[in-house]
Amino acid sequence: ADKKVDKLVKTTCSYCGVGCQLQLKVQDNQVIGVTSDKSSSNKGHLCAKGQFGWEYIHTEKRLTHPLIKKNGTLTKATWDEAFDLIQKRFCEISKHYGSEAIAGLASAKITNEENYLFQKFMRSILKTNHIDHCARLCHAASVVGLQASFGSGAMTNTINEILESDLLFVIGANPTEAHPVIGYRIKEALRKGAKLVVADPRKIELSSYADIFVRQNSGTDIALLNGIAHVIYKEGLWNKEFVANRTEEFESWAKAIEKYCPAYVAEITGIDAEEIVSMARMIGQAKKMMILYAMGITQHIHGTNGVLAIANLAMLTGNIGKRGAGVAPLRGQNNVQGACDMGALPNVYPSYQPINEENRKFFESFWGTSLPAKPGMTLNEITHAVYNGQIKALYIVGENPSLSEPNGKHVKEGFDKIDFLVVQDIFLTETAEQADVVLPAVSFAEKDGTFTNTERKIQRVHRAVSPPGEARADWEIFIELAKRFGQFWSYQSPEDIMNEINQCSPLYREATYDQIEAGTVYWNYPGTQTPILHTEKFVRGKGKFHAVEFISTAAEEPCEDYPLLLTTGRMLHQYHTGTMSRKSKLELLQPEEHILIHPNTVAAYAMENDEIVLVESRRGKIKAKIRCSDKMPEGVVFMTFHYAETPSNILTNDALDPASKTPELKSCAVNIKKI
Ligand code: SF4
Repeated sequence: ADKKVDKLVKTTCSYCGVGCQLQLKVQDNQVIGVTSDKSSSNKGHLCAKGQFGWEYIHTEKRLTHPLIKKNGTLTKATWDEAFDLIQKRFCEISKHYGSEAIAGLASAKITNEENYLFQKFMRSILKTNHIDHCARLCHAASVVGLQASFGSGAMTNTINEILESDLLFVIGANPTEAHPVIGYRIKEALRKGAKLVVADPRKIELSSYADIFVRQNSGTDIALLNGIAHVIYKEGLWNKEFVANRTEEFESWAKAIEKYCPAYVAEITGIDAEEIVSMARMIGQAKKMMILYAMGITQHIHGTNGVLAIANLAMLTGNIGKRGAGVAPLRGQNNVQGACDMGALPNVYPSYQPINEENRKFFESFWGTSLPAKPGMTLNEITHAVYNGQIKALYIVGENPSLSEPNGKHVKEGFDKIDFLVVQDIFLTETAEQADVVLPAVSFAEKDGTFTNTERKIQRVHRAVSPPGEARADWEIFIELAKRFGQFWSYQSPEDIMNEINQCSPLYREATYDQIEAGTVYWNYPGTQTPILHTEKFVRGKGKFHAVEFISTAAEEPCEDYPLLLTTGRMLHQYHTGTMSRKSKLELLQPEEHILIHPNTVAAYAMENDEIVLVESRRGKIKAKIRCSDKMPEGVVFMTFHYAETPSNILTNDALDPASKTPELKSCAVNIKKI
């Protein structure tokens, strides 16, 4: 045993949606390290982020007291001063412009209990449904698409069933970097004999393990998925019994799929027709196939249609409702699933109960107050409304949209212009610097609560150390703020909040703290006995096929002025806008951004490895250092969004998928120039 450690505190990782369980080593009220915990889906595995990314908890850069902007400078203030100002300004703005002029951004990094309270605060006290969070940037298309196909927008199976699959089909996801412990699980499955098919424009690490690896042209996933389905259908490899008994709208789908023959799809995707046939046969012949996907599918103007095409393939092959199969949208942040479940969305209350008269009446009676009737705006609609002056006050919790939103210059300018901006965070982020009031919150290590991971497992977050200075847990801040508006919420602990969630959120009806502590709670539909969704029937009754056409690759195609295509994503040793990971040892591993470019493209521009160049799109320009990489297709460049010094979202396009309002972060046209 490590003699230096006073206690080990079991909790949930604060980084990605895999939701690994870990133990914080605590000595003298300080976290001094992390060790693994074998009790959950991660079975003791942790990636570098979970293992080495914890030092941000005690950095001097933590916010320790509220700040109020005076004469353009953020100045130390008391909690009373901050709360009084927030109450005064929200009331003034509501009185002058109506509650429609107020919006709030919740967070995929705060707990379920906190997301629940935030949306309750915005809806019941500020009377606005303009509430959203970063799920809009990643899996809103999954929620819309899978809900339309199956009746539920979530991962259908559990992480460890990967080990029971015969075939894993990874498309538009890079698990070994973005969801590393799922990446380990995939490799473990391969060692047990599973097959792997990878489809990605970039060479990702898993490509080298794949039985079949194809590189479709960026933005052509729908054509590829339709092409695979076409072959499976034509060669009779589909599951006729499943389709006949459990689905609907198959005939119209089959008609639409007719034209997606291998030759046609080869032309669009750039993949050999024979390879498309081989992929389809391997997929069609597998007994248990799991499709794993992420933002390579969703962050396109046709993101929802991409998800529908995945759902079609899973139903065609009968891979829904059984072990080792299913559809796995890999969630990005640690509690993005939970933030959605809690109703931190503009059109639904907790558990995806739509905003309609019946549900509104229920929540009016449950919360004892009137509620706004009209669904609110989504994240990118909110940032546009801020820019246009329609939204006058914005309350942002635990997000850094100045760096994470597409068309970043536009977003930043909007935040500079807005009448009143409140940011609640653990650091003075780029967005917090623009705020009128900054509230210091606490990290995952300093509070209690629950997170829900990508497989719908609800897990405890345990307080290990005291917060720095005057920082308070988000749930405590919401309770105090509600008091300023005359609402006296009586919760004494996050458990009290969960007890209320149990009563109004059907998916969480059985999620009591006792059950969660026992490690057994996957959210599920009441009456269902297994963590696997859609076992006997789909949540919506029958699974629904949707005829989805390939229409275009992107809103913005490369052209003479902007001949390259920029795609953005994550890398292993950093995380999101770097607010946490860059204040830890991880910074030593990946301290700077590179723009990844194929060597032939670099040569065509007469540039060199390590050269710093200007990267330009229609929306702005930034500088970045070239890294030659044959993992990139020629003509396509890649950047992350982890570094404030190279803010790639200045370049990205905010064109939206019309169904989910997810922006096209995976594709925009750029040029590179010598400096
Ligand atoms: Fe944390 Fe995700 Fe890594 Fe697990 S895989 S340790 S949840 S970052």
